[in-house]
Amino acid sequence: MVADGPPPARPTQAGQTPRKRKPQPRQKHIPQRTCIACKQVRPKRELIRVVRTPDGHVELDPTSKKSGRGAYVCARRSCWNIALHKGKLEREFETTLSAEDRAALEAYEASLPPEPPTAKAQR
Ligand SMILES: [Zn+2]
Repeated sequence: MVADGPPPARPTQAGQTPRKRKPQPRQKHIPQRTCIACKQVRPKRELIRVVRTPDGHVELDPTSKKSGRGAYVCARRSCWNIALHKGKLEREFETTLSAEDRAALEAYEASLPPEPPTAKAQR
């Protein structure tokens, strides 16, 4: 029986650069961000970006394309609760939410499903 060994190395062709430089890492490297509420580091796509726009509004940025200062919050009600109602977001952005912006963010918070079953729901 032959033991599982590494496959025979391919001869490197002249003129071919060894695979060292990757132009764009895809899939492998997942950008991580920290939730301002729970401080957990998560993959960026699991977090919701909130942005303070140059004109002073604080709004959701689902596409991460808006310019301005960004902060990330988990897509979890508990985190939004902290971010919105404990002043985390305002502190993060060093601003005061306008009633209008707050209403929009609260509407988002309300649209989130109730807390997913985590440790609490475990038998
Ligand atoms: Zn969080």
